[in-house]
Amino acid sequence: MSLVLNQPVLVLNRLWQAVNVCTVRRALMLLLKGQAQVVVGDGGDFQTFDFGSWTELSKRDPSNDYIATISFRLRVPKVILLGIYDRLPKQEVKFTRQNIFDRDKNTCQYCGKHHERRMLNLDHVMPRDRGGPTTWENIVTSCIPCNTRKGNRTPAEASLNLIRKPKRPKWRPFVQINIHVGRHESWQRFVDVGSWTVELG
Ligand SMILES: [Zn+2]
Repeated sequence: MSLVLNQPVLVLNRLWQAVNVCTVRRALMLLLKGQAQVVVGDGGDFQTFDFGSWTELSKRDPSNDYIATISFRLRVPKVILLGIYDRLPKQEVKFTRQNIFDRDKNTCQYCGKHHERRMLNLDHVMPRDRGGPTTWENIVTSCIPCNTRKGNRTPAEASLNLIRKPKRPKWRPFVQINIHVGRHESWQRFVDVGSWTVELG
């Protein structure tokens, strides 16, 4: 059951453009809250279902993947259409080393050079022992030479300039991660490769 709940579901916005991939678990939550509908179809002919009609369809058609509980059986959605929101409700990006590297695109924020991750460090712009907090706004990706040069100083003291002001990212990191995992044939109609680079807020 938990494996099924973690399967990927393609998310469409109101314009029927693929904007994201979420888990079955999240798709069902959105369906239950009335924020999304399930899309089913082949060729050019699509139908949408809200939670009630999806439950009905799930009873009628036994030929698909199901989630079964004691009280109901629900067919597993492959594609959902967002109704109220063009985008998924906001989810905070976790403050992790990997996500800081992602935000900064593996680029040293002092010299602007791109590096492999193992060659990169995290730097407190305002040094920690001078009250610099460990936050999105005060941590940047830095290459080892720049990090060494800066040492325990502010960028100004070390004659270094940030290439951009660090901010909390607005994207959600799972957007590009899951696209090739468990990709279902029913996604094909909607997936425009170009759309996967769209940043979501
Ligand atoms: Zn550097």
